[in-house]
Amino acid sequence: MQEEHITDKIKKSYQYDVIFGTHTLHKFPKDLYKVMIEKKKISDVIDIDGEIIEGLPIKRADNIRASVTIMNGCNNFCSYCIVPYVRGRERSRNPKDILEEVRSLAKQGYKEITLLGQNVNSYMVVEREKAQRDGIELEYDIDTFAKLLREVNKIEGIQKIRFVSPHPKDFTDDVIEAIADCEKVSKLIHLPLQSGSTKVLKVMNRKYSKEQYLSLVDKMKEKIPNVKFSTDIIVGFPGETEEDFEDTLDVVKKVNFEQIFMFIYSRRKGTPADEMDNQIPEEIKHKRFDRLKKLYEDGIQQNNQKYVGTVQEILVEGYSKNNEEMLTGRTDSNKVVIFAGDKEQIGEILSVKIISEHMWYLKGEIIA
Ligand code: SF4
Repeated sequence: MQEEHITDKIKKSYQYDVIFGTHTLHKFPKDLYKVMIEKKKISDVIDIDGEIIEGLPIKRADNIRASVTIMNGCNNFCSYCIVPYVRGRERSRNPKDILEEVRSLAKQGYKEITLLGQNVNSYMVVEREKAQRDGIELEYDIDTFAKLLREVNKIEGIQKIRFVSPHPKDFTDDVIEAIADCEKVSKLIHLPLQSGSTKVLKVMNRKYSKEQYLSLVDKMKEKIPNVKFSTDIIVGFPGETEEDFEDTLDVVKKVNFEQIFMFIYSRRKGTPADEMDNQIPEEIKHKRFDRLKKLYEDGIQQNNQKYVGTVQEILVEGYSKNNEEMLTGRTDSNKVVIFAGDKEQIGEILSVKIISEHMWYLKGEIIA
């Protein structure tokens, strides 16, 4: 709804009472009241850089794992992405509110927290820069993502901390050190690559080269014991040549990702990439996607083998969706593990020995 052409289409194509966007969600009760009492049609989607509204009720689907938003918006303007236009510029939540929310979740029995943001590791960067420009002190002690990770790590009851989605350019040394030091922070780092070609990365406006990405991976491997990586890759970005695509395959081979979220490039109205005249034919995009998928799947099988015989600490999430007699949870590296167990064990962290691997999941048995 934050995109004008979508709102226009809804207005033309449907009968509606109230249209609201992500930045006006908090106004929904008021808007609904106007619709019901004053019999008005409401379209309330402006406020593109809306302030962060605290205290909105959250209905959580799970009672073991919870997501906590720490910042909204994005200043990066990758040329294929609509987020900066619909979510506005970056703004971070007050650390006190974040820590209170996590403490309250811990009290309710939540064990795993995922810190969320469109550009999660640039937490407070904009606020710090603004304070510097204005020559004033930022009013918070916790004014970096690294410090926030360290504070969340101290909260009793929370056993696992994950975060999405970071940007490679914001993995500063203090963030890498915090990940290494904080025992609860997952050592699976999501490091969106998008393309392995420096030329394509430049057109995407990603602000790093193939070489910089690989040296960041090397640095993390050196500083964070047992670090593993997941990533996002877009195949068939405008102008991507066979050589560019080979660069992407090269990075995939070198990094050996645990998980790859693969996307075939699709045009998004309102973005610079949609205006580019060197769009890649669908057939080529699909062929490249299949080659990447094959490389990824071969890698999964090899990676999975390494887990067999190891003992993993697993937070029991519940019953497996595909086998209701088995419990399920994830390794630190986010691999799904299924194993026999009792209902009472849901929510506990158990030592599980991996006994076999099955492409998209591992099978284990509880040893403690
Ligand atoms: S892809 Fe991520 S970093 Fe780039 S503009 Fe979109 S949200 Fe921002």
